[in-house]
Amino acid sequence: MFSYRHAFHAGNHADVLKHTVLIATLDHLLEKEAALTVVDTHAGAGLYRLDGDYAGTSGEAAEGVLRLLADKKAPAAPAPAAKSAAKKAAPEAEAPLADAISRYLSVIHDFNPKGGARIYPGSPFIVQHLLRDHDKLKLFELHPTDARTLDANIAQLEAGRQIAVLREDGFGSATKFLPPPSRRALVLMDPSYEIKSDYGRVLDFAAEALKRFATGTYAIWYPIIPRPEAHDLPRRLKTLATKAGKPWLHATLTVKSSKLTTTPTGETQRPGLPASGMFLINPPYTLKPLLAAALPQLAERLAQDRNATFSLDAGG
Ligand code: SAM
Repeated sequence: MFSYRHAFHAGNHADVLKHTVLIATLDHLLEKEAALTVVDTHAGAGLYRLDGDYAGTSGEAAEGVLRLLADKKAPAAPAPAAKSAAKKAAPEAEAPLADAISRYLSVIHDFNPKGGARIYPGSPFIVQHLLRDHDKLKLFELHPTDARTLDANIAQLEAGRQIAVLREDGFGSATKFLPPPSRRALVLMDPSYEIKSDYGRVLDFAAEALKRFATGTYAIWYPIIPRPEAHDLPRRLKTLATKAGKPWLHATLTVKSSKLTTTPTGETQRPGLPASGMFLINPPYTLKPLLAAALPQLAERLAQDRNATFSLDAGG
């Protein structure tokens, strides 16, 4: 169960999508003075070294945040066509960087004041960086090593009672914080989907959370891979949100084909993660236009082959 280590994947295209959405969502929620509670059900280690062994071995950040940083000044080529409603938002050639991407890169820069991205902040540190003193952060992490690292990383912040690190099952116990006293919360669900029951547990968690706190904002990351459970998850989340009468937003980013390839020596190769999605229930109204501008640029700049694309749909 515990073979997944996010350090291999930190700063990859999926993190770029997830963290761009997370920051844009938080920016909006933090405009109101009332306290916000953020619950991160699957927190990871919190901070990653992109020049360290894990990230260096996988090289995934090179195709993600590092590529965006390198491209920052390069003019954008025409964006790939959207699969859905975002079509009209495709930017002109040489369009300036979309606001949500600039904002994401500015947060990465805050952790790397000398430039580049040697340090990559995971969701706990991104959130902590943006929160105000009266907001709260609840972090769940089960992996013994990652939980220890997260604890040590958080301890350095001397954040006192603002941040709680819980070595508990995020699916099993994070709903205990809902609703929070201020009745304002963002819940990020970002499991590793190592075991296929994670898909069902995301759905059960979201259903229970909505029952306890119908006005919370829920953000769920999932991998788009050839597996029925992965295919069904956004469809089932849409049904859940629609039945609950809640608005939803669904953004996906594809960087390459999901097809198996054959090497010149005849070996079959899996392509690695080709795409991922973010599904939000009760999203901020500001998120859709921000993503409509950002997703075509992300698809263009992070493309690994001709299959790169994006989609953006909303309902409720
Ligand atoms: N949210 C992090 C970020 O954006 O930086 C990355 C999280 S990573 C994709 C998923 C994490 O969930 C892993 O560190 C894994 O050890 C942890 N995990 C797996 N099952 C869990 C569970 N039931 N409860 C809490 N954490 C779990």
